[in-house]
Amino acid sequence: MNRKQYKKYCVSGEIYQEDFTKKRGYCLVKEGIIKELGVGEPPIEPVVTGTIIPMFVNSHTHLGDSIIDFEVSRIEKDELSLKELVGPGGIKHKRLEGASDREILKNIIDSLVKGERSGTGFFSDFREGGFRGSNTLKLASQKTNIPVKIMGRPKEVNIKNIESLLEVADGIGVSSVCDYTKREVDIFKKASVDLGIELAVHAGENKINQKNCLKESGKSEIKESIELDPNYIVHATNPLEGDLQSIYDKDIPVVICPRSNRITGAGMPPLIQMLELGIEVGIGTDNAMLCNPSVLEECRFIYKTFKNKLGKDGAVEIVKSATIGSGDIIGFDVRIKEGHRANMIVIEEKNKGILKMLAGEEKISTICRGQDVILNV
Ligand SMILES: [Zn+2]
Repeated sequence: MNRKQYKKYCVSGEIYQEDFTKKRGYCLVKEGIIKELGVGEPPIEPVVTGTIIPMFVNSHTHLGDSIIDFEVSRIEKDELSLKELVGPGGIKHKRLEGASDREILKNIIDSLVKGERSGTGFFSDFREGGFRGSNTLKLASQKTNIPVKIMGRPKEVNIKNIESLLEVADGIGVSSVCDYTKREVDIFKKASVDLGIELAVHAGENKINQKNCLKESGKSEIKESIELDPNYIVHATNPLEGDLQSIYDKDIPVVICPRSNRITGAGMPPLIQMLELGIEVGIGTDNAMLCNPSVLEECRFIYKTFKNKLGKDGAVEIVKSATIGSGDIIGFDVRIKEGHRANMIVIEEKNKGILKMLAGEEKISTICRGQDVILNV
């Protein structure tokens, strides 16, 4: 890896610019900002040539988990249930409660840096631990200069706690409507409306919560969650009859995390049905103790799993969802566009660069982050 700073530089090749339209040409960056997207001969010698895409956006993580050194095979072998692992009072929460803020901070920073080095430049994180938990994540984002949307969670649900949480968090990340009383869920909804804040919620990850909710309230967990009017839903891996249609009707994006779903035995999200219905799909990597924060690895897994059912442009569609699509969902516009900050990835292969990258045959060669150009990633 070789990091250099340039006041002015140029990259050239096939550029997926604006709304992911591929054009052959060059991109001139001055003082970290894209000054010119052009065709024909580049005005200066390009630092690198290849297929150029925006940096990946990780639209769902739990980076606080980075601290947990966990043997993933224990889950795969059914030695532990999802609830025992990540549920209230489970292994994850106990470990996090026993850790110092400094220890958690160091591990979050390591995860952010690891993500950035693999081409993931932006994150949205469901952060536990109330005000302190969100504050630690904010510090990690400031120290690394890597943008993170902090979806915090109050320890006790009341408006006062939510207001104080929002001094450091950007919104609320609800673990599941099943984890809260009806009164608490109403407080979340009221806060999101009255304070005009973003709210996202895990829903439909597993069949148990879906069915328990249905038994108690007559509505699935996904339908109950839709009533919160969230900015997006995370997972929707196990929708019941009509759930996906309701998500589409309410125009709610879904962030999928298939590697995590596979490890926890939740199943695979119905990606093809979601896309056929026209649901906006983002991509996340979920718990850092289960999956590393590289969206490229998540995309490779998605491609491998769904390639036979996706159309011929499947690889490009996945990468579009993982870059500008995820960015639109969590509020970071990462389009390669004149006037935008440079946040770009270069794959050395010019033809079929994206396809080869997802097939694991081609690596990212360069990352352009403002004035920084990281070669030989
Ligand atoms: Zn999650």
